[in-house]
Amino acid sequence: MNLRRLILTNNACYKAGRTITPRGIMLHSTGANNPWLRRYVGPDDGLLGVNRHNNHWNQERPGGRSVCVHAFIGRLADGSIATYQTLPWNHRGWHCGRGVRGSGNDTHISVEICEDNLAGAVYFRRVYNEAVELCVYLCGQFGLTEVDIISHSEGHRLGIASNHADVMHWFPRHGKSMDSFRADVRKVVAESDYEIYTVAKGDSLWKIAAARLGSGARHPEISELNALSSGTLVAGQKLKIPKK
Ligand SMILES: [Zn+2]
Repeated sequence: MNLRRLILTNNACYKAGRTITPRGIMLHSTGANNPWLRRYVGPDDGLLGVNRHNNHWNQERPGGRSVCVHAFIGRLADGSIATYQTLPWNHRGWHCGRGVRGSGNDTHISVEICEDNLAGAVYFRRVYNEAVELCVYLCGQFGLTEVDIISHSEGHRLGIASNHADVMHWFPRHGKSMDSFRADVRKVVAESDYEIYTVAKGDSLWKIAAARLGSGARHPEISELNALSSGTLVAGQKLKIPKK
């Protein structure tokens, strides 16, 4: 994953300044043939390239719309694939409208994949894999699993999003679905050599090592994996725990 950060601080959504506790991830795709990140993310940081129409989303209301997402996946100016984080992950985004049961804006981190003409197999594979890696990362950060990942269209069926088809107008053209996406996330998580533990009140490294690794004396393994300089832990802190 090539994860970069350019927060859309001029967007009214960012300025609204509301936060959420992320309970899931919602996958979107842009619905327009424009795989270049600079269409949505700007100004140019030297990698994105210049958006000559200056219509990226780092403005109050892009195209007059109240929209903002947490991340975009697409092409840099050199053609390579990257992810740009465009809102703090726990910021309340404006990405899915509402459904009959409420709004995923209150619960979900939004990931927007830039579409090409929907036919490019190589482009699809690359952005799909980038999205899998990003979701693995976010699941680790927020204690989520693959079952917490939905598409905008699934969000609509669950009653928490507007009636859009993304990403299911695209993925099946390349032999993928949300089920295969979730399975791929699950597979990558299973292959990683650590899992994420959220520190609880009263935890110590010794206690965690005793509970998770079978011996408190193994606590230096946790310190090392997380590059901890002291043993001080804070409730809510995420720690990588070796799987073996
Ligand atoms: Zn969408």
